[in-house]
Amino acid sequence: MTRPSGMPGRDCPRCPRLVSFRTTWREREPGWFNAPVDSFGPLEARLLIVGLAPGLRGANRTGRPFTGDFAGDLLYTTLKDFGFARGDYQASANDGFELVDCRITNAVRCVPPENKPTPDEIATCRDFLAATVREMPRLVAALALGRIAHETCVITSGARRSEFAFGHGRAHALGALTLFDSYHCSRYNTNTGVLTPQMFRDVFARVREHLDAAGQ
Ligand code: URA
Repeated sequence: MTRPSGMPGRDCPRCPRLVSFRTTWREREPGWFNAPVDSFGPLEARLLIVGLAPGLRGANRTGRPFTGDFAGDLLYTTLKDFGFARGDYQASANDGFELVDCRITNAVRCVPPENKPTPDEIATCRDFLAATVREMPRLVAALALGRIAHETCVITSGARRSEFAFGHGRAHALGALTLFDSYHCSRYNTNTGVLTPQMFRDVFARVREHLDAAGQ
C-alpha cells in the first residue's frame, strides 16, 4: 500500500531526539503503538483540527490522535455534541468512533519527551502538515489547539507569523482557509481554568456556524 504523503513512515528518522525516545518506549512497552501517529478522519472533511503532538500514554499508546488521554475526553465529547463525530468514544483506536466532516492531526507526529517538541522538531515535521492540507480537497477551516499548532498552521499557509497572533477565540483569514484558535484542551489547561468546557464549546459553535454558512 502506498503511504499518503501527509504521513511519516513508522521509523521516520528526521528528529534524532524523538527517534531515541521512540526506541526507548518500544523497548519498555512493546505492546504500544510507539510510532508517528497518522491523522484521523476523512480526507473529504471541511474541518481540520490541529493538536500539538501525541501524548505518551494517549495517542502514542493507542495510535490515534487524542485517544486515551484526558485531552481526548473533552475533545471527542465536544465534537460529538457539535455533530462532528458519531458512535461511542471508548478511548481505543478500535472503538468504531467516526469523525464527520472533520479530521484531526498533530503539528508534530511523534511523541516528544514531557510533551514538549523543540523548535527544530516543530519545523522539521511541518511538511507533513502541509501535505495533509494538500490532500484535503474540501478544506474550509482549521482549528488550532494552542499557540504551537496556530503558528504551524500560519507558516504552513505561507503567511507571516507576525501578522497573525494567536488568541483564544480568534479567527484568521489565511487565504481561502479560516483558522480558528483555541487554548489546548489539555488536562493542565482545564484544571487551571485557562480553558473551561464552555469556552471550548463556544469556539466550536463559531466553527460550526462558519461551516454551515460556507455550505457544502
Ligand atoms: N494527544 C494528541 O494527539 N495531541 C495533542 O495535542 C494532545 C494529546
